[in-house]
Formats: sequence, structure tokens, C-alpha cells
Amino acid sequence: MKTFKKWVRDELGLDLTDQKSLGGNWFAEHGIPMVVSCTCCHDTLNVASAVIDEDKNCFCRECGEELDTIEKLEGED
Ligand SMILES: [Zn+2]
Repeated sequence: MKTFKKWVRDELGLDLTDQKSLGGNWFAEHGIPMVVSCTCCHDTLNVASAVIDEDKNCFCRECGEELDTIEKLEGED
């Protein structure tokens, strides 16, 4: 699983490292929902703080880390 920033970099080829915050327009432009729900516990969360798997399923940080026991989460700069 990847953090949102890492996912955007890999999937969209965009570097968000210097981006402090993303406005609603950015999400609309890229067709990405701003708020998603965790595939595991169904909590809603901001996509920017979600972790995303290969099938584009979103998870909250807590579930993501719990499910991702083999590989360390990617994307922490
Ligand atoms: Zn969750």
C-alpha cells in the first residue's frame, strides 16, 4: 500500500512534495474524490490522509498499517 502522495506520484506522475495543501479544484481536475471511506472499517476520511492499495482501494491509516504487515508503507518522505 502507498500513501496518497506516493500514489499520486506513481499513478499520475505528479510530485506533491512541495504542495502544502490541495484545494477542491485540484481533486475535481484529477477526478479524485476528496473524501473516501475506508474499505476496512468504513470510516470516512480525507483522501490525502488515506493509504491506497494496488486496486485503488482506500484505507484509513490505522487499517492500512494493520493490513500491511509484510511491506512497510511506502511514501513517507
Ligand atoms: Zn479503517
